[in-house]
Amino acid sequence: MTDERQTTLAEMCVAKGMRMTEQRRIIATVIEEASDDHPDVEELYRRSVAIDPGISISTVYRTVKLFEDAGMIERHDFRDGRSRYETVPDEHHDHLIDLRSGRVIEFRSEEIEALQEFMAKKLGYKLVDHRLELYGVPLSSSKGEKGDG
Ligand SMILES: [Zn+2]
Repeated sequence: MTDERQTTLAEMCVAKGMRMTEQRRIIATVIEEASDDHPDVEELYRRSVAIDPGISISTVYRTVKLFEDAGMIERHDFRDGRSRYETVPDEHHDHLIDLRSGRVIEFRSEEIEALQEFMAKKLGYKLVDHRLELYGVPLSSSKGEKGDG
């Protein structure tokens, strides 16, 4: 539920004393609007350039790196050789990657969360962070492939 408005990337930049150009603002908005589909830099570039044709891919790279270094966005490597980005979520979630379509599905399991904490504790640690990626193919996919152009 999002009845409470999240701080925008632009607002975070201002709070961190970063210079906020119009192009950075556009890229920040594109990242925020894509928060559940984990685009890579090229996809962010395609979406940004549709808004402002003056934006170059190197500007997108630099901006994404800046946001990432500032801890404002998260980078994921889902084994396809591309780094994908999303805003730092309010609530932690994990990902399942569909190896056929490349689709990324977000999920959260309290059982898994608890189990990971238990495991860390058992090893003598307090869990502060984790990443979990599941890679799968759809159970029904053996029935035949759909053409996807
Ligand atoms: Zn995600």
